[in-house]
Formats: sequence, C-alpha cells, structure tokens
Amino acid sequence: MIAMTDLQERLISVRDELPEGVRLVAVSKFHPVSALLEAYDAGQRIFGESRVQELQEKYPQLPADIEWHFIGHLQVNKVKYIVPYITMIHAIDSYKLLTEIDRQAARFAEERQINGLSPKVKVLLQLHVAQEETKFGFTPAECKAFLDSTDWRNLEHVEIAGIMCMASFTENQEQIHQEFLTAQDFFAMAKERYFKDSDTFCECSWGMSDDYPIAIEHGATLVRVGSKIFGPRVY
Ligand SMILES: *Cc1c(COP(=O)(O)O)cnc(C)c1O
Repeated sequence: MIAMTDLQERLISVRDELPEGVRLVAVSKFHPVSALLEAYDAGQRIFGESRVQELQEKYPQLPADIEWHFIGHLQVNKVKYIVPYITMIHAIDSYKLLTEIDRQAARFAEERQINGLSPKVKVLLQLHVAQEETKFGFTPAECKAFLDSTDWRNLEHVEIAGIMCMASFTENQEQIHQEFLTAQDFFAMAKERYFKDSDTFCECSWGMSDDYPIAIEHGATLVRVGSKIFGPRVY
C-alpha cells in the first residue's frame, strides 16, 4: 500500500474515533481541490463547504460520488446555484430560505435525478444555542413556533432531516456541554412532537474540530470537522 499523507492520517484518526452511527462531514472550505482529493483517496465521501462560489468551482473538479453538504449561512438568492447537486443544507434559519430551496428543487428535479440525488433536498434547522450574538439560527422558541406553524408541511421538495447547531467558541467545556444538551433536548422534543412517524428526521449536526467529542456525547450523528483534518485555513 502507498504511504499515507499527513492529511490522510489525520482524517483516518478522526474517523476511527467516531462511534457507529456518527458520520464525518469533512469541512474543506478554503482548501484546494488537491486536499479534497487526498481525503477522497482515503475513502472520505461527505464534504462540507460554506461558500457558494467556492463550492461551484470545486464541484465539477471532483468525483461524482461525493456527497456535498452546504454548512454555512446561505443567502436566499444563491440557493439556485447549489440545489442541482447538493445533498444536504445544514443551516436553515428562515421560512423564506426553506421555501426557496423547495422552489428550486422542483425546478431542478431533472438535474438532481441525473446527479443521482433524491428529489427532495435534505435540510437541517439551525438552532441558535451559543451565547455569541453573531451566530445565525432560530432560538429554540422561534424554531418551535416555526414547526408549530405547519406551513412547512406543504413543501414537497424539501425534507426536514434534523437539527444543526454551533456551540460557543470558548474554553469552557461545561458551557459547550450545556449548549449541545440544549440542542439534543430540542431534537428529542421535535422528534416526539412533529416527526414521530417519520424516519427521516434523524440527524443531529453538531461538533467541530475543537468540540466534536463533546458533541458525540450529546447525540451528534454528523460531525463537521475541518481544521483538524485539513490544517489551518488561510483566509
Ligand atoms: C468552518 C466550519 C466548521 C469546521 O470548523 P473547524 O473548527 O475547522 O473544524 C464546522 N461547521 C461550520 C458551520 C463551519 O463554518
């Protein structure tokens, strides 16, 4: 076997730590196509990007069996650029964004089929649990009001697949535990109350390079790890 690169060794050591049922989203933003290919060659198939233009540039240069996840804040007017090939959009923070994804998924149904994707775009509702004001997302009360509104039930081209959150950027481990616990409890409540009969509401996207072990303790099914695998980002 050909020797592994440092990147591949880091990737595999993160992957080996994940319990069954937890999948790795390799967050490749700001890293070149060559780095993604290294990860791909080590078996990685789920990649997360957070800027539309960067994703548009990378997508055609990489193998077709990659599952692309959009993890950042998504502007409504850019939805149309990624819907033809995106598997999951992690950070829904408004009904307007959700309806635009629905509309574009209907419009690009054929492209999605050609690209081997299911007709519905999987989306996660972003829950604001951090203390920082800069982070996007619904507060738990807003998210609950949104789910109570039932408007979303009429959208036929999106599938609400779970909850996403980001913890505060802090050294305080107890605070991170509390924030992920808030998300974990919210997920359980939402599952019971709104998605009891649906198998598709099953994803908890939390945990980044510095806090994914804590996230796993709190039910994460998708961890979004970037710098620990790809190294520091050069902005
Ligand atoms: C950049 C980013 C990550 C990965 O961050 P690292 O600390 O590099 O692991 C995860 N989630 C979101 C939403 C991000 O924007």
